[in-house]
Amino acid sequence: MKIKRYNSIGREELIAASKVIKNGILSDFIGSNSKKFLGGKYVQKFENQITKYFKVKYAITTNSWTSGLIAALGSMNLQPGDEVICTPWTMSACASSILHWNAIPVFVDIDKNTFNFNLENLKKNITRKTKAILAVDIFGQSENINEIKKIIKNRKIYILSDSAQAIGAKYKGKFAGTIADIGGYSLNCHKHINTGEGGIIVTNNKKLAEKCRLIRNHAESVNKSKKKKDLTNLVGYNFRLGEIESAIGIEQLKKLNKILAYRKKLAFELISKIKDLPGLQTPHLKRNCTHIFYVIPFVLDLSKLKYNRKKIVHLLSKSGVVGLNEGYQNLHRLPLFQKKIAYGSSGFPWKPFNQRISYKRGNCKVAEDLHNKTFFYLSLCSYDFKVTHMKKFAKIFQNQWKNIKKN
Ligand SMILES: *Cc1c(COP(=O)(O)O)cnc(C)c1O
Repeated sequence: MKIKRYNSIGREELIAASKVIKNGILSDFIGSNSKKFLGGKYVQKFENQITKYFKVKYAITTNSWTSGLIAALGSMNLQPGDEVICTPWTMSACASSILHWNAIPVFVDIDKNTFNFNLENLKKNITRKTKAILAVDIFGQSENINEIKKIIKNRKIYILSDSAQAIGAKYKGKFAGTIADIGGYSLNCHKHINTGEGGIIVTNNKKLAEKCRLIRNHAESVNKSKKKKDLTNLVGYNFRLGEIESAIGIEQLKKLNKILAYRKKLAFELISKIKDLPGLQTPHLKRNCTHIFYVIPFVLDLSKLKYNRKKIVHLLSKSGVVGLNEGYQNLHRLPLFQKKIAYGSSGFPWKPFNQRISYKRGNCKVAEDLHNKTFFYLSLCSYDFKVTHMKKFAKIFQNQWKNIKKN
């Protein structure tokens, strides 16, 4: 069965983008201390809408969420060799944005049910050098931010929420990404809403917001005139979002609620019908959280099943389930970390700043087992799925399982 790629871009975006093109100003940033330091009309309007929607004090758009992660981490005054705790079960941009500041990613293993940090492991990995925790709202459900806050207590450790996959999800009544010190969302073309490429940083911390704005727009060139005291890590970049993207973003944000409601409906249509199949773990729904199902994650209990993951996914796909993928990420196993070759081949920045940290197999055993043997997912956000598809997929799971399960 062929199912079209998911597309939320329509007439509203066409009109909005055309307006920008008609007036000819595709970007209106100036990289010096002036009114235009904060960007053009649509950038500022979009940011304003974001603060209202997500109920935060500050929103800073960027040209990608990877740029957003780099700016957010840069705002925390990281020193070379400082440790930033991260999950191995996420996209590579999380780890590379840490390395960007010559800080050291410390990968902490995850919980098999929620794919969030294993909190015991998190606690054990906090050291004198830990400056931040990058908590990822993987697959569309928030990390346990309040529990992480409890663990770090009064230590000066920042929490950064990567809510790239969880834009609009709620945690204890608040939006994912807004409970940490700083957080944000991706607007790339694979995410719930998109502007082609783009990112959003959200925070209630004025100092962090100001630094992010500086890093976004050639920091060093405004320092002269702004008389800033804290000039650490203000190597400036161009992380600016354009006017067309911002105009599209304004329209996309209006659609977000509806998009998420439908995606949840799709996910529950499938999950409710297959949740009792033996040996199949469907998404663990946490209390006080909403799940917006960027993907639908599954974990196999192989002791209850006749076949390995490869065979099972093959059987389901062959019978018509679209969008299944095996495994996810084990960032600590990438050559970049195994060989410590992020900047040249001499081991920098681990050498000379922090050589203690290693990335051995077995460091994140749960994430490794999931990746190698038991985890698969349905790419819910990538296809133009309808309820009828989910009904059909549920039937296929049920039918195939008669043969897959051990008797
Ligand atoms: C998509 C994604 C990113 C990167 O966002 P871009 O906008 O593509 O740079 C980072 N983290 C997670 C968890 C993501 O899913």
